[in-house]
Formats: sequence, C-alpha cells, structure tokens
Amino acid sequence: ETMAQADIALIGLAVMGQNLILNMNDHGFVVCAYNRTVSKVHDFLKNEAKGTKVIGAESLEDMVSKLKTPRRIVLLVKAGQAVDDFIDKLVPLLESGDIIIDGGNSEYRDTTRRCRSLKEKNLLFVGSGVSGGEEGARYGPSLMPGGHIEAWPHIKDIFQSIAAKVGTGEPCCDWVGDEGAGHFVKMVHNGIEYGDMQLICEAYHLMKDVLGMDHDEMAQAFDDWNKTELDSFLIEITANIFKYKDADGTHLLPKIRDSAGQKGTGKWTAISALEYGTPVTLIGEAVFARCLSSLKEERVEASKSLSGPSGSTFSGDKKQFLEDIRKALYASKIISYAQGFMLLRQAAKEFGWSLNYGAIALMWRGGCIIRSVFLGEINKAFDRDPELQNLLLDSFFSNAVQECQESWRRAVSTGVQQGIPMPCFTTALSFYDGYRHDMLPANLLQAQRDYFGAHTYELLSNPGTFIHTNWTGHG
Ligand code: NAP
Repeated sequence: ETMAQADIALIGLAVMGQNLILNMNDHGFVVCAYNRTVSKVHDFLKNEAKGTKVIGAESLEDMVSKLKTPRRIVLLVKAGQAVDDFIDKLVPLLESGDIIIDGGNSEYRDTTRRCRSLKEKNLLFVGSGVSGGEEGARYGPSLMPGGHIEAWPHIKDIFQSIAAKVGTGEPCCDWVGDEGAGHFVKMVHNGIEYGDMQLICEAYHLMKDVLGMDHDEMAQAFDDWNKTELDSFLIEITANIFKYKDADGTHLLPKIRDSAGQKGTGKWTAISALEYGTPVTLIGEAVFARCLSSLKEERVEASKSLSGPSGSTFSGDKKQFLEDIRKALYASKIISYAQGFMLLRQAAKEFGWSLNYGAIALMWRGGCIIRSVFLGEINKAFDRDPELQNLLLDSFFSNAVQECQESWRRAVSTGVQQGIPMPCFTTALSFYDGYRHDMLPANLLQAQRDYFGAHTYELLSNPGTFIHTNWTGHG
C-alpha cells in the first residue's frame, strides 16, 4: 500500500532537477523523484540522494499516488515538446486543483498556451524562471514564478525557502504575474545578462588596447571596481578570469578563440523588443556583437585589407581614463536596465499582466548571473515610486548618470577615435541622448514618409490630426 507522503514531485533528473531536489530536501520537504528513463531514479537514490528523505517513483501513476494533495509536480525537462508530452500524460492522473510547475527554460508564449489549456481542465499551471545554473539550483536559485495565482499559496513556502536570500533574508523569489509572465521575466533577465557581459568585454577592450594594461593590472582594476557601485558576480568572476594561468604558467584568457556562442535567450529578448516596439537597443547590440564575433574567419580576412586605428596611441591621463571606462560601464548598465524594464512594462501592457517591478529587481538581486548590489538600488527606486515610468527618471539613477556623463562621453569618443568597437557603450549613450531630447529629427522622417507615400503627418500645434501635403505641387 502506498502512502501519500511526498510534499512535491520533480520530474527530470538531469543536473538542474537533481540539484533542486537536494535543495528542497535540505529545507525539510519530502520530494518524490521521477525521470523518463527510470533507471536514473534508481541511480539518483543510490548516489546523490543517498541518506536523504527523497523518495523515488517507478511510474507517473506511482509518483501521483505518493503525493499529498493538492499535488505539486515540478517539471525540469528539456524545454519544448518534452514539457507538453509530460503534461499530456499527467492530466488524466490528476484532480481539480492539482498544480503543474514548469521550471525549464520554456518560451513564455508556450507557458501562456499551457496555462490556458490546463485552466480548462481545472488544473493549475505555473511557469517559473529558474536562474543561477547548477550551483544556484543546489544552494539558492533566483525563482520567477508566474501563471495561475491560485497556485501561489500552495507553493510559496517551498519556493521562497529554497531560493537565494539577500540582505536580511529576503528571498529572491516572488509571484511575477499571470500566464507566461514568469518566463518572460526570465527571458529579459537572460537578455540583460548578455548586455552586462558585453559591457564588461568593451571595458576590457579599452583597457587592453587603449591603455595597454596587462592581465594583472586588469584583474586589479576589476577587484577595485567590485568595491564600487559595480559590485556584482560578473565583475568578480571577470577579475578571476584575468588572474587565471594555464598549466604552462601563462594567462589563459588571450588564448581563447574570440568567437562567442549563444543559446538564443538574448535573441528572444531582442525579438520581443522589436515585436513590442520597445527600444531595447543595448541587448540587441549585445546579441549582434556575439554574431559579429562568430564571423572569425571573415574578420581575419577583413583585417588584412580594411584600415583604421586600433588603439595604443593613448597619451592622456591613464588613471583618469580608467575611471572614465568604469563610469562608462556603470552609466551604460543603467541604460540597459532602464531598457529592460521598459520592455517589461510594454509586455505587461500588451498582455494585461500586472507586474511588480520592485519585486522583480529583488528576484535578480541574488542567486543568478546578473546578481549585483545595483539591483538593490532598482528595488528601492520602485519602492519610492511603484508607478515609475522609467528608471532614468528616478533621482538616484538620473543623478548617477549625470555624475558619469562626462567620463562616459570621453570614454566613448576616445574609443571611437582609436577604432575600438564599443557597440553597447555607444548605443547606450545614443539612447540616453535620444531619450532626453524633446525634439528629434523624426519631423523630417514624417515629411519623407508623407512625400513618397502620402503617409500623412501631424503638426506640433495640432497633434492627433493627420494631414497630407502635396510636396511637389506649387501652392
Ligand atoms: P536538459 O538536458 O535540458 O534535459 C534533460 C532532462 O529532460 C532529462 O531528465 C531527460 O530525460 C528529459 N527529457 C529530454 N527530452 C525528453 C522527452 N522528449 N520526453 C521526456 N523527457 C525528456 O537538462 P537540464 O540542463 O537539467 O535543464 C532542465 C531544464 O532547465 C531545461 O529547460 C533548461 O533549459 C533549464 N535550465 C537549465 C539551466 C542550466 O544551467 N543547465 C539553468 C536554468 C534553466 P531522460 O533522462 O529520460 O533523457
């Protein structure tokens, strides 16, 4: 006879699933483990989960019978068809009010679709972003759950206790919003990660080729920066990367082929930005920078025939310029997050989600790759004004950008003159300059559109009324 003894079940015993189970076990929850290839359940119980309270299941029926009600079932399987397959198999085994949670990297539209179809079957569905990789899953991930809010009271305890903690123990997990909101927020998080990484790479390029700094000097600079507003996981690991030496005693970094890979989550953020008409330029440039880097052979050929400066003629104050680079990085980072939150706002409008922006910043504050002190400031900005239209309009951030501005412009203009590509530093500055202009040259654009396509335009003095001019006529 089986007893309903497990608090929650988890399907998918690859690295993420195993670590999340052990994390839940550490926090006192009884977890039932299951996997398509059932032999992995046995292996897991015999090895990684040995001596824990984790139990295993031989089949989905067996798993369901071992769960307390309402049943809570987490899927951590390959995103896509595998999720739908498991949902289809689970539906006939479950009762009204049971909860299926997808913790994989699913596309937010799939999550919305699954929410809707499971609602018709009286089942609750949650799509949760899980960030922080294997280490996060094991010791405290950032969790971004969205979907049927009726499920939240039943999973809140488990989710918040296994999540990363910051400050005085605040969990990096809160309810995000309806339908695919959790996975959308996770996607934007990944896009922001692309931007943060590219910004650091541009700082590295300037340090290396304009200032001619060596690896020890760059490591020192990043260690120093990590004690400033830039204090973050990515700055910290970058310092360590600069220090790392190969078995032969020389630095590893310069030997790595400069061709970046990507799994597509940054791309999805950029596609959403285009789709919803939000100028998330920095993440877009970060994705394209990876694309350009991957054209290695083409670049090697082009480097033989295309001329231009490429650094190392700097004759100014080197210490000052290093600080200029730091401030350019900080200001650009503020722009990137401002753009990311603009996209969240636009999506919320598009889908009728009500998102808690401050809570989102707090969810990213710990546990994930973009964790940083800076996110605490974003959280505070939304505390000050939950309706904040744009991060740049918060006094903390507008002052910070103001304080960085001179340095930022100097870093960018020097880099441009020295021929250093800085797609994210420059797009951030252009965005800032565009956003702060009450008048852009789009009046000419409207005139052109009306000239060749009779698309009509409005007059500043009479907005809302669209008129057409016969531009080639005479009076
Ligand atoms: P994964 O390699 O993405 O997936 C492996 C798991 O999926 C195995 O349990 C496998 O079962 C199952 N699976 C694959 N295809 C299946 C199918 N057609 N039907 C049923 N089950 C199938 O594992 P992972 O790296 O641990 O990631 C799990 C999820 O978390 C993914 O969505 C991933 O994107 C996401 N995620 C990963 C990370 C990370 O750092 N790795 C971070 C955040 C989120 P079998 O053993 O039977 O093959």
